[in-house]
Amino acid sequence: MKWIQALQQVKAYQPGKTPEELKRELGLDRLVKLASNENPFGYSSAVDRAIQEASSSPTIYPDGAAYELRQVVSAQLGVSPQQLIFGNGSDEVIRMVTSALIGPGRNSVMPAPSFSQYKHNVALQGGEAREIPLLPNGKHDRKGMLNAIDDETSIVWICSPNNPTGDIMTEQELAEMMEHIPEDVLVVVDQAYHEYVTDEDYTDTTSLVARYPNVLALRTFSKAHGLAGFRVGYGVAREDVIQAIEPVREPFNVNSLGQIAALASIKDLEFVNACREENAKERKRLKEGLEALGLYVYPSEANFLLVDVGMDSDEAFQYLLRNGYIVRAGNVLGYPTCLRITVGQAEDNTNIIQHIASLLKETQTS
Ligand SMILES: *Cc1c(COP(=O)(O)O)cnc(C)c1O
Repeated sequence: MKWIQALQQVKAYQPGKTPEELKRELGLDRLVKLASNENPFGYSSAVDRAIQEASSSPTIYPDGAAYELRQVVSAQLGVSPQQLIFGNGSDEVIRMVTSALIGPGRNSVMPAPSFSQYKHNVALQGGEAREIPLLPNGKHDRKGMLNAIDDETSIVWICSPNNPTGDIMTEQELAEMMEHIPEDVLVVVDQAYHEYVTDEDYTDTTSLVARYPNVLALRTFSKAHGLAGFRVGYGVAREDVIQAIEPVREPFNVNSLGQIAALASIKDLEFVNACREENAKERKRLKEGLEALGLYVYPSEANFLLVDVGMDSDEAFQYLLRNGYIVRAGNVLGYPTCLRITVGQAEDNTNIIQHIASLLKETQTS
């Protein structure tokens, strides 16, 4: 076949085993997934009600304009409805942005390790991914990123909070960076964990987009809203930026139930606010618990922690798995001695700390 050349640069996504599969294999009654930063507190009860009462028919195509959802999100953010583009998860917005801006001869500057889909989609478009290693504390190497920008650069990625380290880029840091980025380079600021941030030096989506004509912020319903299964995310930018990307979007990319669920959830801010508070409390407790074991934990404003366990991450992963917890092994994230652990419910965080303590004891005595 005459596959495009870019296909040689990318691999198909390797899904992990499902919790049900693992439970059967390991003979466990309870297996808690703290691997994908899904919301351990579930989702707003308003979502179930909205879906039960939904009058939309499965026979009818979804609203391609996501009219109602667009109205409510834009009102909440204080931007115009034309400043939004919705996607089948923010993953799809990443795909749309790269389709619109990357091609052979173009390049894109990104932090590494960071969210895998930036590089994947740039490569798929035949562009060059310029990965700039994070600083030892997990922060973006802003100088390194600026130095990597040239005339062929069309997208710069900022992940704040960064997955998998969890750090944010402060308003001041971002402002300094933006000063040196040409206005014809789109800066995508991925704010998938926006709702969890408690640091006051963070830049919210609205002021970011109001301030910079060449910024597109990414938001999602998959994390704090707890709706990963519905696949709804969106981009926020100036109207002309959104208009330019719009032709790339498939006409019915966000499904009917996804729109209903996201709409119900965004109206129930109490749920997300409660999750932010509980997460902040538990994030601090989990961090302190791990630090008390003598481990380095990266500063995080998200709903996960990257912790250096000082051993092969697959080994530590397997140990926790046998004890009923699925976390993310750092080997696949570019941190071979680390685990990325989603902050869970209180009891699970306590258990994780205890299991890691036992693991450390075992490896020290053997
Ligand atoms: C989870 C995640 C996303 C993707 O979210 P979807 O909206 O579910 O596609 C994007 N960026 C980062 C950094 C993430 O961690």
